[in-house]
Amino acid sequence: MLVSAKEMLNKARDGKYAVGQFNINNLEWTKAILLTAQELNSPVILGVSEGAGKYMCGYTTVVGMVKGMINELGITVPVALHLDHGTFEGAKACINAGFSSIMFDGSHYPIEENIAKTTALVNTCDVLGISLEAEVGAIGGEEDGVIGKGECANPDECKAVADLGVTMLAAGIGNIHGKYPENWEGLSFETLAAIKEKVGDMPLVLHGGTGIPDEMIKKAISLGVAKINVNTECQWAFQKAVRKYIEEGKDLQGKGFDPRKLLAPGFEAIKATVKEKMELFGSVGKA
Ligand SMILES: [Zn+2]
Repeated sequence: MLVSAKEMLNKARDGKYAVGQFNINNLEWTKAILLTAQELNSPVILGVSEGAGKYMCGYTTVVGMVKGMINELGITVPVALHLDHGTFEGAKACINAGFSSIMFDGSHYPIEENIAKTTALVNTCDVLGISLEAEVGAIGGEEDGVIGKGECANPDECKAVADLGVTMLAAGIGNIHGKYPENWEGLSFETLAAIKEKVGDMPLVLHGGTGIPDEMIKKAISLGVAKINVNTECQWAFQKAVRKYIEEGKDLQGKGFDPRKLLAPGFEAIKATVKEKMELFGSVGKA
């Protein structure tokens, strides 16, 4: 069964650990993440971007796959199926398709419009028991082909959005999507502390979890971060493992061309990455 992310994140905030959001791309990704969460008795959030949703043939296909897998694999830890960086239209589509958690990213709108659109989703999500993540202050990165600098959100704007009744809040604190540049200045703990001061109990979300040094991750958790998004790191792990398999010529040996064999090293690499992150975030044994 899919659950809202609300309870798991409130528990994480109180227990000073974070729940990982791992983005999925296909069956292998989903299976690797669910099995690892179950083995480690950890809550987990499966992230789906709108692009990945399209790739997997639409949100209802994703819901069907994830629910089927939870059932067939006997997954009993809390699992939230979450739209990552959703548009307003995408959020509505995922709510209709059966997602249990939504991120509406209105950070590129003027703050008034971000607030208006987020407000419109708060009630719907509340009634349906779906958790809602809002974003304030753009998060830099090369997601849209443009490399941005890490931005810092305005704490007063964070409070205005938190007060709308969202479940969790993503705010830029110098973090970046994708690979961090050599000259990255690190997370702004000053900004994080100022936001925390304003938003009180609201669980905070750290995007761009790939490549942030472990010590900074731990400090961010101690300052109120309860959800950390990991995407690129699983992609790199998968790519490296599959590349190695092919470079070693294993696809040419025996039945090594069988896709179930060809993708197996990538699957195992994702499992190892997710395990490493869950241990770092402190969510192991917290299901
Ligand atoms: Zn993000």
